[in-house]
Order: sequence, then C-alpha cells, then structure tokens
Amino acid sequence: MTKHADLPTPADFARAVRAHGGGHPKGRGEVYLVGAGPGDPELLTLRALKLMQCADVALYDNLISPEVLDLLPPTTERIYVGKRRANHTMRQEEINALLVHHARAGKRVLRLKGGDPFIFGRGGEEIDTLSENGIAFEVVPGITAALGVAAYAGIPLTHRDYAQSCVFVTGNLKDGSMDLDWPALARPRQTIVVYMGLTGLPLLCAKLVEHGLKPAMRAAVIEQGTSETQRVVTGTLKSLPRLAADAKLHGPTLIIVGDVVRLRERLNWFDPRAAQASAPAVRARIRRRA
Ligand code: SAH
Repeated sequence: MTKHADLPTPADFARAVRAHGGGHPKGRGEVYLVGAGPGDPELLTLRALKLMQCADVALYDNLISPEVLDLLPPTTERIYVGKRRANHTMRQEEINALLVHHARAGKRVLRLKGGDPFIFGRGGEEIDTLSENGIAFEVVPGITAALGVAAYAGIPLTHRDYAQSCVFVTGNLKDGSMDLDWPALARPRQTIVVYMGLTGLPLLCAKLVEHGLKPAMRAAVIEQGTSETQRVVTGTLKSLPRLAADAKLHGPTLIIVGDVVRLRERLNWFDPRAAQASAPAVRARIRRRA
C-alpha cells in the first residue's frame, strides 16, 4: 500500500498537468466558474486544478487561500475582486462585466470562488450574464464550507442517532434581523449550518430557543476551517455567543447547531498545528492521542 507521505501534492500534480499542456486548446474566450473549496488546497478537485493550470487570467476574492493561489502558474494574470481597503466590495455587476470583457478578448478566464460556486456564492448571477452575452462557460463544483469545515472539525453533519436532516442557511443580518424560517429550523434531529452568521450569533441562538430548541443544544463556531489556523469554539445555544465573543473570532466563520456537535469530543482528528509544522505530509495533520 502507498504511504500517505508518498502521495503527490497539488504542486506535483500541477507540474504534471502543465507538462501535458492542460488539455485545452487556445482559441475562443471562455469562463471557468470554479469552486476552490474551503481553504486547504488539498481539497481542490482535479478539474479545478487542471483549469487553474490553463487559465490566462484569474479573478478571485478574499475567500481564496494564498496556498490555493500559489498553484496558479506565474504567467496567469491575477485580478483581486474582493474587499478593498475601505471594505468596499467590487460590485457584482463590475465582476460580471470583467468576466465578459476578458472572455471577449479571447482569454480563458478562471473565476475562482470559495467553497462551491452555487452555495451562497452568486455563481448563478455570474454565469447568467455570460449566458446572456453568448460566452461559453463551465462550472466546477467545490467542497462547500459546510462539508469541509464539518469534516475537519470532527462533526458529522448527519448521524443515525442524532440528525436525519441538515440545512444550510445564510445568517446575514438585514436591518438587524435575520430573514429565516425559524419554525422550520428549530426542528428535532436536524443539523443547522449557518454561513455568514457570526455578527448575528446572539440573535440566532435566541431565536432558535424561542422557537423550541433547548438552551442546552450544542453549537459550534469554526473559524478558518480546514486551514492551519482553524479554531473551533463549542458550547450551547445559551453559552456560545459569549464564548465566541471572548475568543475574538474574525472570519470566515461557520456555525453548526445540533446534537452532532457533541461527537467532536470523540471524532476531532485534525490538528491545525501539526498541519502547520509540515504542510504537505498528510499524516502530520492527524491528531495523535496519548
Ligand atoms: N460559496 C462558499 C460560501 C460563500 S459565503 C462555499 O460554498 O463555501 C462566505 C461564508 O462561507 C463565510 O462568511 C463563512 O460563513 C463561510 N466559509 C467559507 N469558507 C470558510 C472556512 N474556511 N471556514 C469557515 N467558514 C467558511
């Protein structure tokens, strides 16, 4: 059996793809809308890595980790379309227009999105514009934050004993409130995964209790999941807002609510510090138990 340490790294693989020319003929411009996963470059799909290797220009935002960007060939033009200095995000229409502009110029345009492009990623809006403009495109799914982060936090999203369903919602605050279907969320034996929910965490926890979940229901916040700087704070609907505030978390963070969170006590396998110490060696990521 092959030892983990002998597996090719994404960088080895990228070199091999480059050597074989990436398999895409030059010619008409097209756009690849590619999910880059939650951060750890090892979670890229083979298709994502292949398309990264043959892109002329790459548009990316702040969810794309430096380790993933490092896998772009040096010749690929990089355009940052995320948060600007004064926290101004490039408007969606500007990004759409840029994609069209570069594709019309005959380029192979890579639009790298964090996680999966169709999960809270506005991927639909971006390719809608391309479709209107008759530009060829391809969509590559990625590991969405919920899946990657849950795995690396040792929290199975479903489990025969604890959860038969799992819902993904956005916790974005609009005018200080969350536009969510609370009775549908506060159901027994269901895991709730909240994207973009840190600012609204106190409201989220209060609403779920108000709609019938126990204050002792387990919940976790995971910061920079799957990365070498991953941090996990676990508590209950009652205690988590305070614990998260004390931990001074700053994004990106994902919230998981449900009985499955208790499984982390036994299933927590990923050791960010070990990953930091020797990044490419898969075995080094595993937490060693005494
Ligand atoms: N399309 C992305 C989600 C974009 S919305 C996906 O499929 O994952 C951005 C939100 O995703 C962040 O606010 C955070 O809630 C979550 N997120 C993305 N990457 C994350 C990570 N590595 N750790 C924790 N949360 C993450």
